[in-house]
This record gives sequence, C-alpha cells and structure tokens, in this order.
Amino acid sequence: MEDTVASGRVIGHYRGTEQGPLVVAIGGIHGNEPAGVRALEQLFDLLDEEPLINPGFTFKGELLALRGNLAALESGKRYIDTDLNRIWHPRVPGDTHFATSEDRELFELLAAIESAVEEAPLSELVLLDLHTTTAGGGIFSVTGDDAPSLLLAAEMSVPVIKGILSGLQGTTLHYFRGNHFATNFPVRAISFEAGEHNDPAAIELSLAATINLLRAVGCVRQEDVRTYHDTLLREAAGELPLLTELVYVHRISKDGSDGFVMNPGFSNFQKVSKGLPLARDNNGEILCPADGYLLMPLYQKQGDEGFFLIRDYNFPTAY
Ligand SMILES: [Zn+2]
Repeated sequence: MEDTVASGRVIGHYRGTEQGPLVVAIGGIHGNEPAGVRALEQLFDLLDEEPLINPGFTFKGELLALRGNLAALESGKRYIDTDLNRIWHPRVPGDTHFATSEDRELFELLAAIESAVEEAPLSELVLLDLHTTTAGGGIFSVTGDDAPSLLLAAEMSVPVIKGILSGLQGTTLHYFRGNHFATNFPVRAISFEAGEHNDPAAIELSLAATINLLRAVGCVRQEDVRTYHDTLLREAAGELPLLTELVYVHRISKDGSDGFVMNPGFSNFQKVSKGLPLARDNNGEILCPADGYLLMPLYQKQGDEGFFLIRDYNFPTAY
C-alpha cells in the first residue's frame, strides 16, 4: 500500500504486506544532486506496476523515500546557507527556531523519519542516502566500518570506502549510526555516489543500487529482481578497487577565503603519487600527501572538502 497524498518532502511510503526492515531512502540531500530523487520517483512507479506484471510479487517491510534539501533542489544549488549533510546532530526537544534554511530541512526530515520509525513494526532500520559527485570516474559507497554495513555494500555490487566517516562530522550516516531514533533494532546506513551530477546514467545507477539494497536486506525476493541491475553496477564499477580506506581529507574554508582551486582534469579513483600538484590556494601549490587514489575532487563553488585521498585496503589476515 502506498500513500497517495504527495508532499514535497515525501516521494513515497510503501508498506509491504509482511513485516520486515524499514528502509529510509533519501535523494537530494545536496540540491545540485537531483539524480537520487529522480531514481526514487521511478522506483515508486515500478512498485506500482510490479504487482500487475508479476502477480507473485511481495514486499517485506517498508520503504520511505524522501527529498532531502527541498529549497536547494528548487534552486539547483548544493545548499542555501550550510551543508545539510554536515549538520545531523540531535535537536533540543521542542526547539523550533531555525538559524538556517537547512535547520528547517533537517527538522522536517527527522519528523518524517521519526514518525515512520514509531509506526513501523520494523525488524531493522536501514538508511540509503543517494548522492552524485562533481567529478566523474566511478561509483562508490560509504558505510560505517562495521562488518554488517560493509557486507551490505558488497552485496550491492558497489566499491566501498572505509573510514570516510572518521574524516567528517554531522552526516546522515553519523546520525543513523548514533542510535538517535526511538528503536532498539539494529541500524545499518550506507550512502551511494552514482557518478557525475549531470550524467543521465547516475539516475539508472541510483535506481539499480536502491533495488539491490532492497534485495540485500530482504524487502524483495531474489527472483523478483532483474539481474540487469547487478550488471549495470558491475559494469560501472569496472576495474575500480572494491575496498579502499581513507588516507587524507583536504579541508577548505567555507567562505572561499583560502582561494582553493582544484587543478583541472582529475576524476574519482584516479591514481596519484606523493608530490603530484593537485590544487592551489593562497599559500601556493597543494601537493599530493601520499600515494593512492583521488576521490571527490571539488569542481564546484560550494563544499567543505577540496579532495579526499584513499588507498587499497585488505582485511587483516587471521593467524
Ligand atoms: Zn552529495
């Protein structure tokens, strides 16, 4: 059953006939990243059609799909006053003073999620946060470093980067993993980066990742999912390293006063060596601090990080 009342915030709330996880999927936490929103809208169209073309289709649990930063999506900007994916901290109960546009967005998002958590007879809470990047060069996911989250990413056929959360604060993933909801059930959280903002493939890849996640957590059955989605993600992942870890984050000033400019031509997962000039700021050239792969080089005005550096990660061998 699906809510028929459309609001700007809620893309859809699908309630399966059997008990299972509550999956919260968010698109457009950054307003210049509409691909995730489009993908979730398409998913609800598919969910409407599925029982008609596949009478045996069943859905366990619930899917709540939300638009992230409504005002920023409207104006096509990453954010209005501050990055909505850096301010996820518990609110003081009853406080309805909003210092920024994003404070209000967060308040409304949390209200929608909290009421779904309270109503759902859920076995597990799962967050999927859909993003895109300014540079092209590959899809990837970010999770907590716990084994269940890493395994979930692996089941989605998507490269995983460990340790990014330790280099950031106040993201959706931090909040979901911080036990701030009124539930004792397990929580897993994953964000998915579907490639370049304006690449039409980013919508298809976001859709494929969402469907694979619904299968991995048991909302939909293996036999009801087309292998096409796996193929699409595997092809997009190509030769990318499947498991990497964060080495370094280059932070920049919010107001642009440090004059940070990324050198042109870099892409995600590009191999870089220590000493390679990557960017410039008011202090001169910024050299690559270690060997590794470049991630999320910043080619837009708004952002708190200039680039990330990652390296291959191998699980320690047991003795
Ligand atoms: Zn984003």
